Amino acid sequence: MSTQVTPQSYYGPSFAALLDSDPQIAELLVSELDRQRAGIQLIASENQTTPAVLAALGSTLSNKYAEGYPDRRYYGGCVEVDKVEKLAIERAKSLFGAEHANVQPHSGASANQAVYGAFAAPGDTILGMSLDHGGHLTHGFKVSFSGKWFNAVHYGVAKETEDIDYDQVRDLAKEHRPKLIIAGGSAIPRKIDFAAFRQIADEVGAIFWVDAAHFIGLVAGQAIPSPVPHADVVSFTTHKVLRGPRGGAIVCKAEHAAKIDRAVFPMMQGGPLMHGVAAKAVNFAECATTAYQDYARSVIANAQALAAGLGERGIRPITGGTDTHLSLHDLQGVAVTGADAEKRCDAAGIVLNKNAIPFDPEKPNIASGIRVGTPSVTTQGMGTEQMERIADLIHRAVTTTDGDPEHETARSLRAEVTELLGAYPAYPTP
Ligand code: PLP
Repeated sequence: MSTQVTPQSYYGPSFAALLDSDPQIAELLVSELDRQRAGIQLIASENQTTPAVLAALGSTLSNKYAEGYPDRRYYGGCVEVDKVEKLAIERAKSLFGAEHANVQPHSGASANQAVYGAFAAPGDTILGMSLDHGGHLTHGFKVSFSGKWFNAVHYGVAKETEDIDYDQVRDLAKEHRPKLIIAGGSAIPRKIDFAAFRQIADEVGAIFWVDAAHFIGLVAGQAIPSPVPHADVVSFTTHKVLRGPRGGAIVCKAEHAAKIDRAVFPMMQGGPLMHGVAAKAVNFAECATTAYQDYARSVIANAQALAAGLGERGIRPITGGTDTHLSLHDLQGVAVTGADAEKRCDAAGIVLNKNAIPFDPEKPNIASGIRVGTPSVTTQGMGTEQMERIADLIHRAVTTTDGDPEHETARSLRAEVTELLGAYPAYPTP
């Protein structure tokens, strides 16, 4: 390694080179950055990663083939990428207190594929949360490989609490004796009782798998309890609250390490994206800081303030609130569909998504709810006071506009959004 690393000593693809060779794409990159800066970003699965992570992603590590694992590669010339991957693995193990880490999955779905590959065979029974109650496509939904290749059984939430129905989980586990029991999903506002899942898995001899894609950043920031001591295996994405590069990872007990590694490569993937692995290493180090722990706590405080603010305005939070970075809201009280709310907010400069709510009377592409999350706005430095203001903006967009960006109220809401973002810019220019 060169002893003097300076920006000049590092040959990274510069934006100037892109502008020169492909101005069309260069301009689109700038337009997308402008779009991210111009709106209030409330997509619960998105964040604004750091310049350091972006630098690793835009590096010449993208050139390197490194099939295999450190010191066990199928290609020569892996001396530097071996060091990178070892650092990423060690940092992941240390951050999550895990016995083993695999940092190669290209995405959350790829990580999940590998977990199936390690523990199940086609035709086996799996038990996960249903998509319409907050689960994920890869937990056995019929259009996904997981629903096509496995016999998927689903639990949901209890009608009274709108939170996971643990009695139903136990009943279904006893009835169907699944190979795998999955906890986690895309629209679960509350903490999950990992100990209860562990107990159920033990009662039926199942592998207990937590798909922590959404909330792993809060675990990294020590703001909510960790699934790692309870689960056999934990898969996650690195780009949500965690704020790293787009990608996936898996941590597991040492006894499952070889199975998981073989399932990632060569079973499900080819060569790892080494620029992504480097960016994951950068991110894991960032997440081990007290600054990130403060961030994780603020993400939750902001989500709670936003959920309460919307609730006070008749946009009811499912389960009554949130313990995490996201809340799910029922729009039936204001007689607007999720699809209309998404469109109206978009026209007002607020980016969020429609979402099915448990026992939703509408079809999924219309939906009766919205999902909002605070990872991005918290990265921009906003606090609970700003969440109160955003709740008001959402309420007015949803109830007094029609989705037309030229609507007078939509225009004035956009002006308010611009004013708010002026004080909390995304990627501020130094
Ligand atoms: N698992 C859960 C719970 C998710 O929410 C997501 C994505 O939103 C995934 C897996 C898939 O991640 P990716 O989009 O990186 O494949």
